[in-house]
Amino acid sequence: MFTAVFKYDAKTGYNGKLTYVYLCQHTIQMDIFSVYKSTFETRLSGRYISLKQLQPILIDFQNTGILEKLGTSEKGNPVYVIRMGSGPKKVLAWSQMHGNESTTTKALIDFIQFLRQKRFWQAEIKSFLQEYTFVAIPMLNPDGAELYTRENLNGVDLNRDAKQLTQKESKLLRSLFQQEKPDLCLNLHDQRTIYSLGGSNYPATLSFLSPAANVDRDITTARARAMLDIARLNNYLQVLAPNRIGRYDDSYNENCVGDSFQSEGTPTILFEGGHSPGDYQREKTRELLFHAFTALFDFIPSTKEPPSLIDYFAIPENEKNCRDVILRNAYIAGQKQDIAIQYKEILSGEAIDFVPYVDDIGDLSPLKGHKEIDVKGEDILINSHENVFVDEKIATISIKSTKKSIII
Ligand SMILES: [Zn+2]
Repeated sequence: MFTAVFKYDAKTGYNGKLTYVYLCQHTIQMDIFSVYKSTFETRLSGRYISLKQLQPILIDFQNTGILEKLGTSEKGNPVYVIRMGSGPKKVLAWSQMHGNESTTTKALIDFIQFLRQKRFWQAEIKSFLQEYTFVAIPMLNPDGAELYTRENLNGVDLNRDAKQLTQKESKLLRSLFQQEKPDLCLNLHDQRTIYSLGGSNYPATLSFLSPAANVDRDITTARARAMLDIARLNNYLQVLAPNRIGRYDDSYNENCVGDSFQSEGTPTILFEGGHSPGDYQREKTRELLFHAFTALFDFIPSTKEPPSLIDYFAIPENEKNCRDVILRNAYIAGQKQDIAIQYKEILSGEAIDFVPYVDDIGDLSPLKGHKEIDVKGEDILINSHENVFVDEKIATISIKSTKKSIII
């Protein structure tokens, strides 16, 4: 049972001091936050996760019989599936359908490692494995992951290929869906740093969606079930990360995989891992996603009334009010302007460089920078010149009069 609540701290996030214990059969178990710290997969970190990074972990999984090769990608890379549990409720999850969206892959592997370890929460894990059959593709698009692209090797967005099934990866997912006939699907993605909670300045650190099942966005039985799961998740996550959970746009597109599965009557939840302040490597988001999995599968007892659809619609819808950096009160060639800067993620070796580009110029008062710098009316130079161009790559920003650099 919960004996207290825990609070989100702006500096330490939900890593702050824990103030509750979970009691089970008269023994005090280690709380789930400490368990995470002891069990998460340390061999994965940062944003660049390709098959090479996953390989040693997949070998461990293969050795314990939970990994199978599902097929091959367009380039001929293996696409794997992990299976755990033997229960009647079947869940199908897939991550990195978009190759450059690796945060949910890290969290999914953390969750699998939590299920595999033999030290903590054994009774709960045993119950989970008896109740669920958990089937997960950790990396559906290994070619895109290698190249750090959203699309696959052929430049196709696999999340627009649900109908046509032109790509090998799309066919693999589709055939697994048909073979498994899951009761619940989890479509795991990352979202950009621009997303905010509604019109607020809060970044959408996680967003969820129960995708539409038809153009009229009717609330079908499957859709309602996914909505209720999301509302339940939101109740829990609001305690860990208040004002960080959003709801993704629900316009219907039959070419999107989630919409397609939902339209066929399988409840489907879209997960979108996003930004939290200072966390460009998305390690905090990864941890929050792990806690979302444990909450979804009832490892954490619910302390609230059963959620309703109203709770789902009360989750603020994503808007695009955030930018990576905003320079305020800058003068450019004598004119007062705000300048928004976005980082482009560029693959460099096996790491991602965050390269700043000019995103927007003008009165940007409705927008909020994850970092805001007040230039206090100084004339500034970008790349040593007075004019600023949208989409220009930024090497330097300096104060014109003093030549002092502005570090973003
Ligand atoms: Zn995506």
